[in-house]
Amino acid sequence: MNLTAVNRNVELICVGNELLIGKILNTNAHWLARRITSLGLLVRRITVVGDDLDEISSAIREAIQRKPLFIITTGGLGPTFDDKTLEGVAKAIGCELEENEEALEMIKRRYEQYAAEGRIKKVELTKYRIKMAMLPKGAKPLPNPVGTAPGVLVKHGDVNLIMLPGVPQEMMAIFDESIAPLLREAAGNMVFYEASLEVRGIPESDLAPLIERVMRENPYVYIKSHPKISEKTSHIELHFSTTSEDLNLAKQRIEKSIMQISELISDKGEKFCL
Ligand code: ATP
Repeated sequence: MNLTAVNRNVELICVGNELLIGKILNTNAHWLARRITSLGLLVRRITVVGDDLDEISSAIREAIQRKPLFIITTGGLGPTFDDKTLEGVAKAIGCELEENEEALEMIKRRYEQYAAEGRIKKVELTKYRIKMAMLPKGAKPLPNPVGTAPGVLVKHGDVNLIMLPGVPQEMMAIFDESIAPLLREAAGNMVFYEASLEVRGIPESDLAPLIERVMRENPYVYIKSHPKISEKTSHIELHFSTTSEDLNLAKQRIEKSIMQISELISDKGEKFCL
């Protein structure tokens, strides 16, 4: 099988004015990028947009044009006026929002639970609560084990659009329960393998030709240098990563490139440690 021909691309779109003004750190993107990569898929782009209908729909439309296998959004699924992600998705794919029975049932059950716990007085489905069940036509709601707004899955051609809430605990819970199995299946047997080498006392500019040479001779391995600027002497983390259908092969590839670069560094009389 030609692995490069298999579409494993994922794009993330994080929605929220609070991200754009620097009030909130985009930990959702960081967590998702790490998880998706470790599941063997490739995060190709992370976009942040505000709570604006046109911005959301154009970001979705542009991502769809690049034909990733998955587009995952976070934020903007709640009951307030500025939660516009589903409207943005519907606008981007040219469909209507409609009341989804299954989603409404999930939301109702959650409010019944809140009432039983004494957290709210009435279970009444107000228009704000019903808003969370207004999904793009043909969408599937994904149970939210720790919050109210369900996640949403909608297929548009070959692209799977997945909408998750902004609250990190809710986003993570829906991802683990409903999304990770889909991504694992899409990744097939692909595994991501990584290791790091700490190099001290050699400037990044001197490491550059060594990195280039080792990457040229090990085409499946990606090497990225991460300079640590807090120390007086040069201190660089070299991060090695690869994706393969065979874990042993992935390990061997990384070990070989670490060994090669270590030898090249030693030849220059420099110090390094794992
Ligand atoms: P809810 O259903 O609770 O209203 P929501 O999907 O509408 O959730 P938002 O209102 O967009 O989500 O965000 C809720 C909270 O989640 C934000 O106030 C913020 O604290 C946090 N949050 C949102 N986006 C992110 C992000 N990308 N990274 C980390 N935290 C985030």
